[in-house]
Amino acid sequence: MDSKPNQLHIYFLPLLSPGHLIPLVDMARQFARLGVKASIITTPLNATNFSKTIERDKQLDIEISIRQVKFPSVEAGLPEGCENAASVTSPEMSLKFYKALDLLQQPVEQLLEEDRPDCLVADLFFPWATEIAAKLRIPRLVFHGIGFFPLCVYHSLRTHKPHKKLESDSEAFIVPDLPGTIKLTKRQLPDHFQEVNHLTELIDKAIKSELKSYGVIVNSFHELEPAYSEHYRKVMGRKAWHVGPVSLCNRDNEDKAQRGRAASIHEKCLSWLSSKKPNSVLYVCFGSLSLFSTAQLLEIANGLEASGLQFIWVVRREKTYDGEKEEWLPEGFEKRMEEKGIIIRGWSPQVLILEHEAVGGFMTHCGWNSMLEGVTAGVPMVTWPLFAEQLFNEKFLTDGVRIGVAIGSERWSRWFHENDVLVKSEAIQKAVSLVMVGEEAEEMRSRARALGDMAKKAVEEGGSSYTDMNRLLEELRLNCP
Ligand code: UDP
Repeated sequence: MDSKPNQLHIYFLPLLSPGHLIPLVDMARQFARLGVKASIITTPLNATNFSKTIERDKQLDIEISIRQVKFPSVEAGLPEGCENAASVTSPEMSLKFYKALDLLQQPVEQLLEEDRPDCLVADLFFPWATEIAAKLRIPRLVFHGIGFFPLCVYHSLRTHKPHKKLESDSEAFIVPDLPGTIKLTKRQLPDHFQEVNHLTELIDKAIKSELKSYGVIVNSFHELEPAYSEHYRKVMGRKAWHVGPVSLCNRDNEDKAQRGRAASIHEKCLSWLSSKKPNSVLYVCFGSLSLFSTAQLLEIANGLEASGLQFIWVVRREKTYDGEKEEWLPEGFEKRMEEKGIIIRGWSPQVLILEHEAVGGFMTHCGWNSMLEGVTAGVPMVTWPLFAEQLFNEKFLTDGVRIGVAIGSERWSRWFHENDVLVKSEAIQKAVSLVMVGEEAEEMRSRARALGDMAKKAVEEGGSSYTDMNRLLEELRLNCP
């Protein structure tokens, strides 16, 4: 389809990890609905996860398409078919995965040269995107995948290095020079702050390239974290736009059920949820990357059973060890829980579940997207952060907006050994009960609901994110050749 006169053409280059790819695809769809021509660059296997959604958009005359580049898995030493961070299962594979991402520079550059878009929105993890954009004389916008609060915490840690002055890993320190009092310990910090690893250099490059870019586009809304977006813009001096919550661009059930990956279980979940009372079900999910040990899964199962609550629990383990069926579940668990719960193995239709009125709480690893989706659905959360910036996000939920109860996992943990247990069943039982029942739970729920209402208003016509998005488009139109 030919572009209309004055129509902006924006290229989106998402990191190949669900927590970055899903929101950037949503964002591209959101911009396309505002009249932009949107092109999403991804690899063949990743494309299969959202091509149907894009096809449906096209049938509505929305100008959006997928541009494919081959993922150099084999060249980087990865098994064929490993095209997404969710297939990475060890630190060694992670290193190769980032090497493969770096190899995408040339094919991406070639695509952009052929197509000559007006702007490139690229994930932070592609530092070379700023260079490509500069060659084409177009603006590059950075997408971090996280909100203003964690962006400000990261910036403060990098600038002031408070963790360098501590006597021990467990000593608490206040994150300097930020609105509010945020207390952390060294062991809550991402591993690249604790030791130099393959991400140290990449993040360094990424931050330098961000400083040379046109600005930053954030999946958040003004009313959620006003002090931090102001700090980011005024104190840190960055140009930034709120465009979220982007998950709200999925309006019908088909879009929601297929978001990220088709979830065949969605009809069963919806009919089960519809048979339950409002706010009576706990949703348990730890994002797209976390892989718990068998011992930890057993503790979760015991904690859920002891709580007596109804639940939907997502477990990323699709295969069992040694061919043994359900080895990680306590004896007879599924039979006993027939009425009480559903276990989803693999991928869940998260936004569809969260927004159901029967869901009254969310046990989450505090990935930015999950957290924002919980906020948007207006549910209080049990916070169980594991890695990345999740331990910062936990502080925001528990001490900032006060809609979370911490489970007590206070160590940054990315990879697990088979017997590792971070949280015992007793602590799980206690935290989930606090979030689901009682006066405190009701107070948190009403604060969460108020935030959820603001989130929905933000993306409606005239809302804060809607206005910010249109302001950005106006500015890009003025700056485009
Ligand atoms: N997600 C989903 N179903 C799942 C697991 C995850 O839809 O079974 C989605 C979730 O809704 C969110 C994203 O995947 O949009 C995960 O991003 P997040 O930032 O929460 O965590 P990450 O996976 O990056 O750790």
